[in-house]
Amino acid sequence: MYRVMGAPLSMRKSHQNSTSRSLIPLGLGTVFAVILAVGAASSPLLAAAVVLGVTLWMVLRADGSRSARYRAVLEQSPNGTVIADATTFQIVDANPAFMQALGYTAPELRRLALTQIFVDESAGAAGLAAKLQNPDPRVPMPLRQRRKDGALLEIEATGYRLILNRRTTLAFSASDVTLKRKIESQLLEKQQHLDHLAHHDQLTGLPNRLYLAHRLPGAIEDAKRAGTMLAVLFLDLDRFKDINDSRGHETGDKLLKTVAERVRATVRDEDIVVRMGGDEFVVVLQSVERAELINEMAARINEALSAPVIVDGRPLNATVSIGVSLYPRDGSDMGELLRHSDTAMYQAKDRGRNNFQLFSPVMARKLRERVAIEASLRAALERGQLDVHYQPIIDIESNRVMGLEALLRWKHPTHGYILPGRFIDIAEETGLIVPVGEFVLQRVLKDVGFWQRAGASPVPVAVNISAVQLQRSNLRDRILSLTREYEVSPELLLLELTESTMFERRELRGGDSRRDAISQLRDIGVSIAIDDFGTGYSSLGYLKQWPVDFLKIDRSFVRDLVTDMSDLAIVGAIIAIARHLNIKVVAEGIEGWQQLEKLRQLGCGLAQGFLFARPASAAQCLKLLSGLPLSLTDSTAQTGEFEAGPLTATGT
Ligand code: C2E
Ligand code: MG
Ligand code: MG
Repeated sequence: MYRVMGAPLSMRKSHQNSTSRSLIPLGLGTVFAVILAVGAASSPLLAAAVVLGVTLWMVLRADGSRSARYRAVLEQSPNGTVIADATTFQIVDANPAFMQALGYTAPELRRLALTQIFVDESAGAAGLAAKLQNPDPRVPMPLRQRRKDGALLEIEATGYRLILNRRTTLAFSASDVTLKRKIESQLLEKQQHLDHLAHHDQLTGLPNRLYLAHRLPGAIEDAKRAGTMLAVLFLDLDRFKDINDSRGHETGDKLLKTVAERVRATVRDEDIVVRMGGDEFVVVLQSVERAELINEMAARINEALSAPVIVDGRPLNATVSIGVSLYPRDGSDMGELLRHSDTAMYQAKDRGRNNFQLFSPVMARKLRERVAIEASLRAALERGQLDVHYQPIIDIESNRVMGLEALLRWKHPTHGYILPGRFIDIAEETGLIVPVGEFVLQRVLKDVGFWQRAGASPVPVAVNISAVQLQRSNLRDRILSLTREYEVSPELLLLELTESTMFERRELRGGDSRRDAISQLRDIGVSIAIDDFGTGYSSLGYLKQWPVDFLKIDRSFVRDLVTDMSDLAIVGAIIAIARHLNIKVVAEGIEGWQQLEKLRQLGCGLAQGFLFARPASAAQCLKLLSGLPLSLTDSTAQTGEFEAGPLTATGT
């Protein structure tokens, strides 16, 4: 730029040298050259004109009849040039290009002032006058030019002060930039469109994560300045993956669109609603003056989404779990606020979904714990720190061991044995349950093979299967290949599924495919048990439709069986219905003789609990597998989990 700009300065020098010889023609020639050269800076077309102008000027300098030729240069120039008085702005002269562009004749123009021709809406009359009075020849001014017919032209004017007949004048060269401006505005439009694409989500039309990254820091600054609060709501649809898996992505997309619309319609115009990706949305509530507003808004979003969404004529539930963090209470920057709202969202999921939770520091601690557990569980799996223990399932009448339940154990190098209650949920959430479940299955079949070779009489082994495992791993094929590998009959396997794993979201097609998956497992000889019965959906009606072999009554009903009449009634009803449907019942968590007696009276066939034995290693269990009835010794002196329980096989 400055290299090009250099030209006018050298011109100026020549002009000063020659003023004494012939003021008017040289003055005009110099001005013209200066103007052309300056114009060259802004357009390649003008650059050509500059070359032409300079050449002509040089030729003319060498020529005697300069005046006429200068005039020719000016008159034939395609660029409009105008000269005006520097004080009054009265137009003194203009070349034909200038007159033509404006539609004025020379006499008409001479009656006008520059300020009547040039327009600058942004500067006002005084501002325009100041600009014209002191033009910088290196910087073209974006102005408008009023034609005689009133039309306004977009121009760039390059001006220069010069002395003409001892009078200070101003010369301006104006180039029409209408086309240039049009192209610029098209480019700008295109840029804005690209910008919109980059900052918005295609599916829902909502702003995206990138947009949030640009906007949120500013919104936090605004809140800081205004002394108001700002809330970040992290939304995650409940079980969206199930919907996608069972009804297809197209349905999932339609659902997301409706969710986006409902959320947008629920919050205020000034609030920001962003789709972060997948089924995650963020709402930023700005200028919050009262904390109650946040609760109100979050509750309204939950409510707006609790009405089923009809997609392709079928209703879908799109409830949402919301985590809320507040500026300044829970964080001072975007990263912290987003992290904490995300933590609170997980808490909302834990609390049964379809609700909102405000962030608290306790949550953050729990989350850190979870993250730590996840990492060390992953390592435990790789380092062979996982183990499986077995707890016998007893036939109440014969006292024989009718089965074993495989229970996962984590042999932590420093914390000792960790029970699954501490890590199964995390394993499920992170998908780690798939390799963990695979480990359990493999270990169980290996142990059954070991017991068989050791001459034990085989009993079915119950393995706990989580919903994620049922969905994500091809259980049937895995079982077939592992049973073949360890030479164990699939009939020795019993899979325990919780009610929610089996029945939840039955309204989705997933319900059918899950039933099919379970039927296929039964087809290869595997038995199915519903675990923790009574704690989930508890619809006895389901039992009629689902292929189930065993029902395990949850420990919470067994615990107070002796004292609580309603527990007694529930357990009695479950046993009666199951018997009617030909489903065997196992009572879980039996710790006392009175409980056992009650269950016997109610007609419960099978029992499991510390009364008989605590879970123990495969080697310790071997002595329980003689096939002979067991004698129950007094259980008051309970042994630890890793010793054999009070149960011993008769004759051993
Ligand atoms: P669950 O399947 O209902 O297993 C029974 C739980 O009750 C076991 O706890 C067992 O040790 C405990 N228990 C048995 N008898 C008594 C008793 O008389 N009193 C008391 N207080 N407790 C008793 P554990 O081993 O801590 O397992 C807890 C849960 O973890 C299991 O409940 C099951 O849902 C899950 N789990 C265990 N192993 C696995 C596994 O390999 N895969 C999956 N997905 N889940 C597992
Ligand atoms: Mg179980
Ligand atoms: Mg259970």
